[in-house]
Amino acid sequence: MYQVAQLIGGVWGAGGEGGELVVRDPADGSPVSSAPVATADEVGKAVEAARGVAAQWAATAPADRAAALHRAADAVAAAVDDLARATTAEMGKPLPDARGGVEAGVGTLRQYAELAPVRGGRTLHGATDALDFMTPQPRGVVAAITPWNDPVAVSCGLLGAALVTGNVVLHKPSERAPATGWLLAKALDSALPPGVLSLLTGGPETGAALAAQEVDVVAHVGATATGRAIAAAAARTGAKVLLENGGSDPLVVDGDVDPLWAAGQAALGAFANAGQICVAVERIYVHRDVAEDFTQALAERAEALRVGPGGDPRTELGPLVDRRHRDHVHGQVTAAVAQGARLRTGGTLPDGPGAFYPATVLADCRHDMTVVREETFGPVAAIVTVDSFSEALRCAADSPYGLAATVLTASMSHAQRAWRELPVGAVKVNAVFGGAPGGAAHPRRGSGHGYGYGPELLDEFTATKAVHLEAPGGGHW
Ligand code: NAD
Repeated sequence: MYQVAQLIGGVWGAGGEGGELVVRDPADGSPVSSAPVATADEVGKAVEAARGVAAQWAATAPADRAAALHRAADAVAAAVDDLARATTAEMGKPLPDARGGVEAGVGTLRQYAELAPVRGGRTLHGATDALDFMTPQPRGVVAAITPWNDPVAVSCGLLGAALVTGNVVLHKPSERAPATGWLLAKALDSALPPGVLSLLTGGPETGAALAAQEVDVVAHVGATATGRAIAAAAARTGAKVLLENGGSDPLVVDGDVDPLWAAGQAALGAFANAGQICVAVERIYVHRDVAEDFTQALAERAEALRVGPGGDPRTELGPLVDRRHRDHVHGQVTAAVAQGARLRTGGTLPDGPGAFYPATVLADCRHDMTVVREETFGPVAAIVTVDSFSEALRCAADSPYGLAATVLTASMSHAQRAWRELPVGAVKVNAVFGGAPGGAAHPRRGSGHGYGYGPELLDEFTATKAVHLEAPGGGHW
């Protein structure tokens, strides 16, 4: 069992007066990790200690900060196996996926280490004997509050960008993956000056205590309701808020595509990581011409997935993160069925230990059902049949969220309409998880605001200062 320790003021093992939280393996219910719960008082002290070293880290040359981040990436790379095992044990995803998440995190740290020192400000053209320029500076103290669904990849993005731009960071990982957060912090801290990174563990109360502190930035990746609570707290302190929150991503299947290929795309988008991906396919608008063949093929793919513990190399569909989350997923499915949706496969709670949930295909959904409108975050494909591409686009656009969308079509004019008209951060045509490296987007509405990744995330953690220098009295220096 992992015994997680906090890192406060450069000291491992500090705090924890708020008690202990225990995480259970979602595959079998056995205890996996024990973590201290930070009290509000400890959170306050941690912020104070972090602020004490902020000026020194901010004054460290960007190249030296970047070198430290490279060393940190090496340390995370050396811990790939440990991090992947902890991720799988705590949140259940298949081990190769967990490993992929850690490797993605290492890649992100290296990218930020390379990009940060070469991102400058700009010079301005004012009076010829004056100097005018704009320069980015660290914002100061950053609170990073992260989720469990891809814990290392997500945390490396926020932590890497915030640290390399000269901020000190207090990281509060998810209470569902504290050992993963602890192993990551140990690796990063080994390459950083003491106190630059702090680790606080605990649940929503610890996160709320951190978000209420006088920090400079609160960066949150997680549920929309949490993001809104954090934004309200930060409105009282004046902290800048960066929110990457929930989604209900649509998949539009046009009438002119091969329904079997489209079903493969839908299965990948809806069932990977048991649907627990912010940009998972949550709702499908399929043209009536291909609806039946598509639905049948998707149900077959769902039934073919090998279900098992994440640690078993044959597993394609692991458990959900825990039973509380499974109740949420199953609640949406049963409500949809009660309102007239038809279960083509799945939708029943399995016997036995753990938080397993079958890949589920729900046909005859309506656009106003909760399973369609809200985030499900489970292996559930909710299908709405539509009569035209225009109807599909209209429904896809009508959402409280605005994270991403995918359109499968053979028509270039439909593809063009899709990217122009959909009010979301990312539009993918003919590939559910497509996208070039370095892409970054603004989520919209309930999905948050600010760049959550990509080179632009570096700018989110700096404040730009405009500087004007001229000689005294209009003369010489
Ligand atoms: P969550 O918001 O419940 O928890 C995330 C973090 O916030 C945890 O560390 C938690 O302890 C903390 N927290 C909870 N309540 C808080 C409060 N009142 N104040 C401050 N902190 C609080 O989210 P989750 O269940 O861990 O993650 C799943 C969600 O994350 C899904 O909605 C998913 O779409 C979203 N997500 C979004 C992205 C993205 O890039 N947009 C990426 C990954 C996950």
